[in-house]
Formats: sequence, C-alpha cells, structure tokens
Amino acid sequence: MKIAIAASEAFPFCKTGGLGDVVGALANNFSRNPNIENVVLFLPKYREIAKTAFSPKKIQGNYFVPVGDRKENVNLYFVNWGKVNVYLVDNPKYFDRPGLYRSEQGDYIDNDERFIYFSRAFLEGLKFIDFKPDIISTHDWQTGLIPAYLKTLYLFDAFYAKTKSTFTIHNIAYQGFFNKDTFVKAGFSWFDFTPDKLEYYGGINFMKAGITYADAITTVSPTYAKEICENPQIARGLEGVLNYRKDHLYGIINGIDTQIWDPATDTFIYRGYDLKTYWRGKPYCKKMLQKEVGFEQDKNKILAGCVSRLDWQKGIDLIAEVSEEFFGKIQFIILGTGEKEIAQKLKTIASSNPKDLIFIEEFNEELAHKIYAGSDIFLMPSRFEPCGLSQMIAARYGTIAVVTKVGGLKDTIFYDPDNLLNSNGFTIETPTKENLRSILGHIISIYSSKEIWSNIVKNAMKTDFSWERSISEYLNLFMSLQKK
Ligand code: ADP
Repeated sequence: MKIAIAASEAFPFCKTGGLGDVVGALANNFSRNPNIENVVLFLPKYREIAKTAFSPKKIQGNYFVPVGDRKENVNLYFVNWGKVNVYLVDNPKYFDRPGLYRSEQGDYIDNDERFIYFSRAFLEGLKFIDFKPDIISTHDWQTGLIPAYLKTLYLFDAFYAKTKSTFTIHNIAYQGFFNKDTFVKAGFSWFDFTPDKLEYYGGINFMKAGITYADAITTVSPTYAKEICENPQIARGLEGVLNYRKDHLYGIINGIDTQIWDPATDTFIYRGYDLKTYWRGKPYCKKMLQKEVGFEQDKNKILAGCVSRLDWQKGIDLIAEVSEEFFGKIQFIILGTGEKEIAQKLKTIASSNPKDLIFIEEFNEELAHKIYAGSDIFLMPSRFEPCGLSQMIAARYGTIAVVTKVGGLKDTIFYDPDNLLNSNGFTIETPTKENLRSILGHIISIYSSKEIWSNIVKNAMKTDFSWERSISEYLNLFMSLQKK
C-alpha cells in the first residue's frame, strides 16, 4: 500500500500544536509498518523549517498550479526522514513568513489562497514525482479541499483512478470558512456551489469540503466522533453534514511518542524514574521543580501542573477562579501562551500570591518536561477536547490527570470514585468551577493516603498510550477502502 499525506504541519519540521505531533507520528509509524510500501508527506516549505537540522534538496524542474486566474510556480524540495519521503512545497510568496498561519497582528489574510495553492500543488506534485497513492490522507481544514478536488476536477483523471481519500478532523473549532471569492479562487465549477456540496452560508468552508467528499472521515477519539455528530456547540455548525456522513466517520484515538515521553530516559528532567523507582525519582523532580520556579520546597503540598495553550477550550480560567481557595495546600504552576485576557488573569493572581501560583508565559519544551515529571497532579478541565495529548503524557510520568469527561479525555482517563483501584486519574462530569473545586477537595483528602495514591499512580503509568493499536485501526480502514 502506498500512502500520501498532505498536512499543514508535522513534527519535527514545523508545529504549532497537537496537529503537528500527530501528523509526524502517523507518517513515521505508517512508514515502519510492513503492510505499507511507501509513505510520502507533503508540507509547505515555511521559513521556520530552515531552523531545523534538515537540509532540504531542491528537485530539478518546476511546475505551475492555478490559483484564481493566475498560475503560481511550485518548486519541490526533498528530505529523507527515516523511511518517510518528505516533499516541501516552495513558493516564498506564500510560505516564507515568520508564522505558519498568523503573525502578531492575527491570521494571515490570504490563508485561503495559501492552502488552495498548497492543495493543488500537492495533487500536481504527486504526478510530478510520479507517486500514485492508494490512499491520500488529509488533515484539518488546511487540506480539506483535496478530497473535494479528487471528486470534482480530478474525477476522471486516470492517475487517481484507484486512489481513496481520508480526511482527519483534529479540531473542528477551526474550519477555514471564507466568502464566495475564495470559492472562485479555488477553481471549482458553479455546479458544485450547492449546500449539499461546497456552498456554506454563501461562502466555502474547507472543513465541510473534506467531510463531504472524503471516502472516509476520521477523528482523534471515539467520544469526539460521537460529540461532533450530537452536540452542535462542539460541532459548530457542521453537525448536519457529519450526521449525513456518519456511516463513514471513525473515531481513532491518538497515541503519544513513548520514546520522547519516557520518564526513564528523559534528559530534560532532574532525575529519571520508572514504575519501580517512582518513589525516589518523583519527589526529587518535585523538589527541584519547586526550587527552579521559586516555590517553597514542601513535600506535603500538592504540586498541580498545567502546560497548555491559553484558550477558552482549555478551561484555564476555571483553574484561575478556584485556585485561591486552595492556596496553602496546593501550589499551582502554569506554563502557557495564548489569549491575552487569560494570561492577564493569571498574572494578576500570581503577582499577589507568588508563593501559591506561578505563571510562566512561554512556549518552553524543557520546562514542560520538568512540569510533567515534577507535579503530583496535572490540571486539564477542558470544555471540549478532540483527543488531548497532555493528559496521556502526564499519566506516563505518574502525574495524576484531573480532566473533564469530554472527547479524548473521557477515552483515556478513568475514574471510579467507588473503586479507586480501577482509576488512572480524576474526572469531572462538566467543566464548572463547582466540579473542579469539589474534585480538588477530594484529591487533598486522599493525597496523604500513600496506598491509594500509589495505586492510581501505578494505573496511570501502566496505561498503554502507544500508537500501535491506533495504527492498526487506520490500516484496517485503509484496507477496507481499497476494496471498495
Ligand atoms: P492542543 O493540540 O489542543 O494544544 P494537546 O494536549 O493535544 O493540545 O497538545 C498540546 C501539546 O503542546 C502538548 O505536547 C503540550 O505539552 C504542548 N504545549 C502546550 N503549551 C506548551 C508550552 N507553553 N510550552 C511547551 N509545550 C507546550
């Protein structure tokens, strides 16, 4: 089987969040699977790729793709990344910029054109390198037009006669909704500008295009798959089209890279540990983290960590609001960047309570590792969460996740108040201050009971968060598509 992946980010080349981690992991894991002959991954050649250790080589020749009434040039660059052949789509006008999608002033105003261009450069690029894929795997709104092109402009193209497409929803909150001019730039026929096809409230929605036209739609957890069909607040207007395509929608949980996120070999943390050495390693990591960030080194205080984008989605405002009631018993360390209002709220609390809440407004990979290792609990009271990686990382480091029972959090963190022996974390039913307050109170009451706590830690560290099972679910899906 030959797979071509198109995405707007993939670690370790370019990343803004979970999407990048997951695309990188999928490409890498697919390429090592014996059932897969070949994997190619197309990414935009962003400016930030030059900062990585890779040295892309220019492929001889070039080609053009239409964007509106113009023809835009494409140069392809190649990187050999393990068994994955990575192709970087180069056009400095679109991608030689400081950010992937936005600058300090906000989203780039030509994001529609940038990803129309990228999608078309991908489909023509596979011909240019003569790679005829069995499966085209696309991700989030930036590549949502590709399945639509395959079923419209490329419908009778012999090169893609046997190709099936999948569209993976990593976060339905970002849809790529543009006006009618964008529809024109994308080059579709007016015949397809209808509500059952590409039209969306008088414009075009790239995510809807992916959902409508892909041979299969996947999303990153079984619970999120259900929620986006049933809950309009989560689906944000796309519940109708998802329900229409429900029979082709699959929820496949993400994994984490268990080599990068391994407390036994992690070189960022103060001392490595595994399940057996947890009782020595964890207290040391906690003590050192307390020292590094400026907390009192008190082993009896619960250290609550949070590493997150500052976004309404993540419920960080709830943490801010309840935190003060627990000062003296819980130390809060929050690492995150994002919305200014949330950051301001945290700064205000931190400045008047420096012994109890520390807020670090940075994107800091090393400190993130130290927080995962040094904290006792990890707070993630998300309002919605397609999958979430942080709760799995925390669990692997024996840091007990405190999460809302939504999306992938519900599928990965299990809490039975009547049987803590079966729990690997703590959950709240809904993201409210009352629920968060009550679970933190409960955690304080059981934290001192070594036996109960160590059982939850063991369950957390032993939970299987590896990619293996998910990769085989993707493969089964790809094989079933090939038979159709
Ligand atoms: P999302 O993709 O919605 O932001 P996930 O939980 O799926 O959330 O993934 C977030 C990833 O980004 C995790 O690996 C987390 O550790 C990392 N991360 C988030 N904020 C920061 C930060 N300020 N510094 C370092 N890593 C961060």
